Amino acid sequence: MAAGGDGTRTRSLYPAAVRNDDTAQGTCASCGLEATDLAPVHRAYLVADDAGGLELGELSEELEHWCGSCRSHYPHEPAGPGAAGA
Ligand SMILES: [Zn+2]
Repeated sequence: MAAGGDGTRTRSLYPAAVRNDDTAQGTCASCGLEATDLAPVHRAYLVADDAGGLELGELSEELEHWCGSCRSHYPHEPAGPGAAGA
């Protein structure tokens, strides 16, 4: 006569694909690889200067998530809770 005595129930937890944290797990928007150290950035475009070199141009307004490798190789502006603003 145990109609409803089972008080324990197993719940499945879904790992968050992207967290509003400093780093997150998911797919890097730059290289497309799975990464566990994604961070929000704004892509920075390079423009050629008169000397034949490259300098930072405009920043993309689109928020992307890059892995640590891309953040160390490609120009970007960190975007986070503290960096997001006007
Ligand atoms: Zn990457």
